[in-house]
Amino acid sequence: MIACPDCGAVDKSQVELYDVSLRKQNFGHTPIRPVCRKCHAPLQLSHRCSGGELIVLTGTCGSGKSTVAELLAQQGWLAVDGDCALQSAKYKRNGAKVDYRQLADEIAEELDWLSLYTDKFVLATVIHPEDLAQYRELFAARGLRSRFYLLKPAYDTAVQRCQTRTCHKSITPEYWIDYFYRLLEYEDGVVPVDSTDMTPQQTAEYILADFRGL
Ligand SMILES: [Zn+2]
Repeated sequence: MIACPDCGAVDKSQVELYDVSLRKQNFGHTPIRPVCRKCHAPLQLSHRCSGGELIVLTGTCGSGKSTVAELLAQQGWLAVDGDCALQSAKYKRNGAKVDYRQLADEIAEELDWLSLYTDKFVLATVIHPEDLAQYRELFAARGLRSRFYLLKPAYDTAVQRCQTRTCHKSITPEYWIDYFYRLLEYEDGVVPVDSTDMTPQQTAEYILADFRGL
């Protein structure tokens, strides 16, 4: 099920799941890049997630999706974060630039890894409306009961929260948020959450209650 190129078949106690060297400063999540504890070679997994629950959080930078995922992680939900998946994918491609729209397979693979440890997952990432169907397919193929949430605080709140982030280097937060506000319009099946007047904790509780109420 798990194979190391040097040690052969290994069990999950030999898996070093997260790569702290890829971790961004001041960021709650750590990129998933499984290596062998003994020899540090990258591991191969021939196992697919086959069931579980998945909360999907999408929204602009500054919408709080990573923070909410962090809070859910503290309650036992294992998190896949888009920013981290980007780091991992970039590393695997020797530092080549990766677009967030090319992350679906990396995210699916990370879910497969996490399924060795849990059946409760949270994903925080920007999902382009045109990619929604592709994600739904990947999740359905893994037997995941999923629900999508769009975190959408008021524009000014998002801009304010985005000021403290480093996701935009050459463009202003206003431009960035504006761009995503117009982009992230979903036709159906995505639950909008206006988190303007909610703390991240309240937002996490709200989403959890909604998800459990299904
Ligand atoms: Zn090894």
